[in-house]
Amino acid sequence: MQNIKKFESRVRSYSRAFPVTFKLAKDAYLYDEQDNAYLDFLCGAGSINYGHNNEEIKKKVIDYLDSDGIVHGLDLATTAKEEFLKTFSSLILEPRELNYKVQFTGPTGTNAVEAALKLARKVTGRTNIISFTNGFHGVSLGPLAATGNSGHRGGSGVPLTNVTFMPYDGYFGNKSNTIDYVRRFLEDTSSGVDLPAAFIVETIQGEGGINVAKDSWLTSLYELCKEFEILLIVDDIQVGCGRTGSFFSFEQSEITPDMVVLSKSLSGFGLPFSMLLLKPELDIWKPGEHNGTFRGNNLAFVSATETLKKYWSTQKFESEINKKSQLLKSELERIVKKHLSADMEVRGKGLIFGVDCRSPDLAKQLADRAFENRLILERCGSEDQVVKFMPPLTADIETIEAGLRIFEKSIEQLTTNSEIQLEVKKRTEQN
Ligand code: PLP
Repeated sequence: MQNIKKFESRVRSYSRAFPVTFKLAKDAYLYDEQDNAYLDFLCGAGSINYGHNNEEIKKKVIDYLDSDGIVHGLDLATTAKEEFLKTFSSLILEPRELNYKVQFTGPTGTNAVEAALKLARKVTGRTNIISFTNGFHGVSLGPLAATGNSGHRGGSGVPLTNVTFMPYDGYFGNKSNTIDYVRRFLEDTSSGVDLPAAFIVETIQGEGGINVAKDSWLTSLYELCKEFEILLIVDDIQVGCGRTGSFFSFEQSEITPDMVVLSKSLSGFGLPFSMLLLKPELDIWKPGEHNGTFRGNNLAFVSATETLKKYWSTQKFESEINKKSQLLKSELERIVKKHLSADMEVRGKGLIFGVDCRSPDLAKQLADRAFENRLILERCGSEDQVVKFMPPLTADIETIEAGLRIFEKSIEQLTTNSEIQLEVKKRTEQN
């Protein structure tokens, strides 16, 4: 940590919240230099869905390296890319009757979002994009303009333009349907909101606080898009690749987005890899127009292909996720009800859940105490008031229970502290 503190830019963030130096990682655990094991429910912010150093995926990567397979090939045709596309098409797209072309973008999520925004503007000839309150789409300038968080926006150095924000599902409470509100702006030619090229939406806002859009809300959004000939981009970077229990997070709602952005766990091994799925008729790019040296990481093609074959060729993995989801949800609800106050909400789906503490201070104390007890939990939401649970999808029931026990123990330790008791009491009374 000494050199990290000395040389690494102040911009570093996770290493401040979890201030130890990690040396090894296996499955659901990270190990520090003293060999202490930490249960990892941060999960690379959704990049480690299949656990750290997943044995079979690692073996394929090692075999590929041993055979002198191409590691870097710009966007040249390679056997690794051929194999990935064949597998992705047969295991993911065809069974879901989805017809998309695949664009390999630069390796970061934000670059894939850039591509989606650029393409939407190019196809429609419109400049405006509609994004939603608390949305997070990355920190390069295009996606940052579509990101709500003022802390991130503050780093831009230039005005962030050509994006209009509309209220996400539940923004005004459960009774109001925010799609009606959006519709009014689109219908009224004097509303001051330019007809957008696209809506960009997360089905569950990961960084924004585990806000879950109802399937019916997504369907209404989809219908609105069709009615006004607006493209629909689903940013599935954090909650895609199985996180919500199905490969794509929107599978339970009856929508077919025009574009889908995938990254984070796409490689299955934590390797940088992003891509944009686009309806064939949108593919009007000129060759090389959205360019980049690291488009299509061949090692990631290899690991992703193995991941798809191992986990997505049958329904078994999905049904296992859904069983574990029920446990995580019911236990979090029990713990919150028993130890915390009634206005603290448990939200989520699949294996992404948040405990909204309504208080950034309380959320910080809980996450810090959990870390002292060797459970890594991230915080999210506009003020970091939500404690986020994201175990690897491959974690077994016992591992998830172990994490829940540490969380409960951390709360018990804290609720003996009078300040926390006061905070919980205050919130209960307010409620
Ligand atoms: N979109 C969503 C929904 C994300 O959660 C993230 C990252 O957390 C991004 C975009 C940006 O991805 P990256 O950090 O790889 O640029």
